[in-house]
Amino acid sequence: MSFDYRGRLIRLQTLMDQQGFDAAMFSVGADLPYFAGYEAIAGERLTMLVVLAEGDPVLLIPELEAPRVEEARAFDLVSWGETQDPISLVTKLVGDSKRMAIGDQTRSAFVLALQAAIPGSSWLPASQLTRGLRMRKDQAEIAALREVGSEADSVAGRIPSEIRFEGATEAGVSRQVQEMLLDEGHDHAEFAIVGSGPNGSSPHHSASNRVIEAGDIVVLDFGGRRRGYCSDTTRMFIVGDPTSHNREVHAVVAAAQQAAREVARPGVPCQEIDRAARGVINDAGYGEFFVHRTGHGIGLEVHEHPYIVEGNEVAIEAGMAFSIEPGIYLPGQFGVRLEDIVVATEGGVETFNNSVRDLVSVS
Ligand code: ZN
Ligand code: ZN
Ligand code: ZN
Repeated sequence: MSFDYRGRLIRLQTLMDQQGFDAAMFSVGADLPYFAGYEAIAGERLTMLVVLAEGDPVLLIPELEAPRVEEARAFDLVSWGETQDPISLVTKLVGDSKRMAIGDQTRSAFVLALQAAIPGSSWLPASQLTRGLRMRKDQAEIAALREVGSEADSVAGRIPSEIRFEGATEAGVSRQVQEMLLDEGHDHAEFAIVGSGPNGSSPHHSASNRVIEAGDIVVLDFGGRRRGYCSDTTRMFIVGDPTSHNREVHAVVAAAQQAAREVARPGVPCQEIDRAARGVINDAGYGEFFVHRTGHGIGLEVHEHPYIVEGNEVAIEAGMAFSIEPGIYLPGQFGVRLEDIVVATEGGVETFNNSVRDLVSVS
């Protein structure tokens, strides 16, 4: 299934028209690949898609990077040479535009230069326009997320038989997991958090040189991309046999995740999904140890809107994809998190991660 870049650009232009934007500009970050199917190299040379409320968008690109752009595209391509000034080229393209949207992750040096070059212009973050579009996934995007999710599941399934934990470092296990993601078809392996024993109590611990020991409970949170779309799943492993405390905490997290999955459906505000997970963990007495939101949207970025967090009243709609990942982190002891990506359907959610959620025994 191919992505509908032309349709996305038309929807953007319609929104620009409705909200009174004259021009939108996208450089590094996920908005550019969303609209153009091309990801800018994050360097000192400017790449910028310039979209006016009407007419064909133009991708301005350094001459030496032009060959990276594929033939089939929904925009015109203008390349600039090493001795040209790309800021003045953008200025020409936007003409007398005054109300600008600029990609949230654009280098400040470029933004400041453009602001100076276009007097009287006003600038807003482009996420104001793009978040609503990117949050609602179409069938091709859902298919891409399903595919990348099932590849991550295959990795989770292979881990117990193919990775030896005891005596290995976290970094060594992380490398193996990332290799398996590539093996299963990912274009990129982006991360593999390995939090063994006490390190598991730091939710974003990456992977250290700590040697994994018998009795360690291990948080494995890994993901990457295929065709731009991200995977992100967390599963729990135990080297040998779990203690009853390990089992109890794992069961609370599993119940919290299930509770969140059961309330998630169109019409439900994001914060209600967070409350469902948090309620279970609070009731079990571990509330103070669940130190992060329940989830995040996912698509071309591993973290994007909608955020599943208290205070977010945005109602879930069919096509929104997000993680459900409650956790309990006991400082100095261990951590437990379970994470699945789901997409809202008409009546509930479809879960893209379906590997076993048990505390899986490994050697
Ligand atoms: Zn995270
Ligand atoms: Zn994750
Ligand atoms: Zn996540």
